Amino acid sequence: MITAETVNRIVQFQADGLPVVSLYVPIDPGMSQSGVHSRVTSLVDQIDGLAQERDLPHEPRLSLRGDIARIRERMAEEAWQPKGLAVFSCSGRGLYEEVTLSRAVRDRIVVADAPFVLPMLAVLDEYHRTCVVIIDKEWAAAWELYQDEMRELTRFKDRLGKFDDYAGGNLDRIREELTKRHYRRTAQVLGELFRTERYELLIVGGHDFEIPAFLGFLNRDLQDRFAGSFSIDPPTATAAEIRAGADAILQRYEDDQEQKAVAEILDRAAAGGLAAVGVPACLWAGSVAAVQTLLVQEGVAVAGVVCDDSRWLAVAGDTCPLCGKPTRHTADVVDELVQAVIDEGGSIEHVESDTPLAEYTVAAALRFPLPPN
Ligand SMILES: [Zn+2]
Repeated sequence: MITAETVNRIVQFQADGLPVVSLYVPIDPGMSQSGVHSRVTSLVDQIDGLAQERDLPHEPRLSLRGDIARIRERMAEEAWQPKGLAVFSCSGRGLYEEVTLSRAVRDRIVVADAPFVLPMLAVLDEYHRTCVVIIDKEWAAAWELYQDEMRELTRFKDRLGKFDDYAGGNLDRIREELTKRHYRRTAQVLGELFRTERYELLIVGGHDFEIPAFLGFLNRDLQDRFAGSFSIDPPTATAAEIRAGADAILQRYEDDQEQKAVAEILDRAAAGGLAAVGVPACLWAGSVAAVQTLLVQEGVAVAGVVCDDSRWLAVAGDTCPLCGKPTRHTADVVDELVQAVIDEGGSIEHVESDTPLAEYTVAAALRFPLPPN
């Protein structure tokens, strides 16, 4: 299970002079274990020579050998899940992480002084790290919802007490005060969670008549990250019910984001700004590394050609105009474009909802104006 914490640990990892192995493998749903096995083997073989290098100092060489041994060992015991896998290993500093990716990634192995995280982040960026809080007048629980997993972070109760405890006082007023105190404490706990775990979105579940009062206690940052609320009876809510409520809010939020992103790029293109719309224009933009953000219609494949030498991408053409070499035909040149954008540090947004992008398949925000094609 991938938690936000795992990803943070990988991204912030300090190798202090030792090499870090980053491995990416696409795993097709129909692929056999032996198919995955041979793919990983051929990648690991690429760095085998490096681990034998006499020039490499003892400690890095030993760490690298440890990484290779660990990956080979895991491969024999683990049935990895589609559609992609990332492994980060630095045995000399105690790092070994496997991250299952929900999208295919280009296979490669990299040895560097830090984890190579761009392809992983490009896949994970499409998921919002979300914190779901379930609250009533005296009880609260916070959950993390990330990728397809939900886990409980904390739960607590601030007792309102029994009638006898308030003898002589104004019961309603005291209870109201205690509820405010509970809401304030919950808001503080959330503020701390968002600060340390860097959640992007907040979703609140509870009784409709209680939620607005609680929202008033959230700080400005949490209010900005508030994605919506749903109705649920806190003490009796099951994890599945919380999940369903939060998913509905998240779905609405994502649809909304997709609509906005598509409208923004199409508007920009219409105004003659830094944007490319449609497959040919976006392939050209990808060929010259001009793509900052690429919007891709989910589930669409377009046949095309690639030059593996100069990374030229196009819908058709047997010869690369940049270097003159023959091109390679591919069943999905949009996927090649996605990988090229990731390699250049651009971001990808797969659009699933019904937007005008369906007509164009791809659209991009650009870093600089495109040279003539
Ligand atoms: Zn070329």
